Amino acid sequence: MGHHIRKPLPEMFPGGSFSPDAEWILHFHCYLLRAAGRTVLVDTGIGGADSPAAGWAPVPGRLPEELSAVGVHPADVDAVVLTHLHSDHASGSIVAGAPAFPNARYVIQQAELDWVTGPMLDQVVAPLRDSLQIVYGDAELFPGIRVVHTPGHTPGHQCVEVGDFVVSGDVVLHPVQVADPAVAYVYDEDPELAVRTRTALLDRAATLAPGHFPDPFVDL
Ligand SMILES: [Zn+2]
Ligand SMILES: [Zn+2]
Repeated sequence: MGHHIRKPLPEMFPGGSFSPDAEWILHFHCYLLRAAGRTVLVDTGIGGADSPAAGWAPVPGRLPEELSAVGVHPADVDAVVLTHLHSDHASGSIVAGAPAFPNARYVIQQAELDWVTGPMLDQVVAPLRDSLQIVYGDAELFPGIRVVHTPGHTPGHQCVEVGDFVVSGDVVLHPVQVADPAVAYVYDEDPELAVRTRTALLDRAATLAPGHFPDPFVDL
């Protein structure tokens, strides 16, 4: 994480306890779901060299290469769910000013669109305008695949849930919040709402796929 937003762990996660030499290495995960005969990408990561995340994240990201390695062509993706519009989750949605996944609908909460400003609005959301599927709260995307509004980190944050498997975006940032969901994150937009959302999510999930953990899957 870029130095101008990095802080000591006890300041990043007020209320959490850490060993004095603990470091936070931020990993950036996107998730590919193949279910119900569909190919669904959840988040598009930090993006290319010209991404809005370039000031703080290790661009370019590797999503195009990783998808290619598992035999997925950009045109194969039916839907892209953006958990939220932070630059490390959505910047790979666009390549050279156009949607990176030309046949996909891009699923975003209205509450997130109402909130986003700046380069994420101008460089990412605006070029997606003809590909957007705007959702209002919880919705079934495909049979068995749901998006669930999980506000707090941002107003329109959403998760993707398949039964009790949850791609959880930034509802949980660090393992210390799995141990105690009341531990806040300094960059949550609404920390108290984020605690309520996190507590409820951890109650209903059996497996998490969070945005930034070292291991991409966490059994609860
Ligand atoms: Zn975020
Ligand atoms: Zn994030």
